[in-house]
Amino acid sequence: MPVCDNCKKKWTWRETVFSKLMLSSKAACPYCGEKQYASAKTRKRGGFMVLSVIIPMFVVLLFNFSMLFYIVFGMIIFMVVMGLSPFYYELSSKEEPLW
Ligand SMILES: [Zn+2]
Repeated sequence: MPVCDNCKKKWTWRETVFSKLMLSSKAACPYCGEKQYASAKTRKRGGFMVLSVIIPMFVVLLFNFSMLFYIVFGMIIFMVVMGLSPFYYELSSKEEPLW
């Protein structure tokens, strides 16, 4: 689980998933209000999120599945990736350059 770089409090799974962190890689800490950024390492791993869209697309094309299957399958993978991401999230008080 992510730990606030400022107050060292651990964010809960819920706070991480429902924060804006997932979408914008920055969010205010629910405990101290300090703005926290996803670390560069975390954002690099976030690239795997993209795979959650690409993998189902390949499966659908490969096996000629329907679009509905793609949507359902993609949603499931996306939710699994989202659900697991708080476990590897690391926070930083500064916005780190990606490279
Ligand atoms: Zn904090």
